[in-house]
Amino acid sequence: MTYRPSSSGGARRVRCRCGRTVLRQLVGQRAALDVVANADELPAAAAAALREPNRLDWCVRATKHGTDLRWADCHRRRGDCPRPHVIDHQCTAPPGPPARRRPTRTPPVSEGQLALDA
Ligand SMILES: [Zn+2]
Repeated sequence: MTYRPSSSGGARRVRCRCGRTVLRQLVGQRAALDVVANADELPAAAAAALREPNRLDWCVRATKHGTDLRWADCHRRRGDCPRPHVIDHQCTAPPGPPARRRPTRTPPVSEGQLALDA
């Protein structure tokens, strides 16, 4: 698993399975989070109101490379962030067929004697 630094790429607009346009980006310097957020921009306060323990909002910055999502720690610093925010996408699409089926049976490791020749 390789995490590329997010600073170079910025957010990409992609279409989710459910049909919504979402912003996707690895956010964070070290432990990057694979963020999928709704592309609809909200005022910071509105996005903050939608926050849930497992649903974060993100501060949207327009850079010369495009849209860049940042941790919305602006909520802590000041009351009102002047930048638009986006909220984590919650997918409404039904769970599709698994892309790759995992084998349901794992072969037992200790079946009989393994070769013990020295
Ligand atoms: Zn979706």
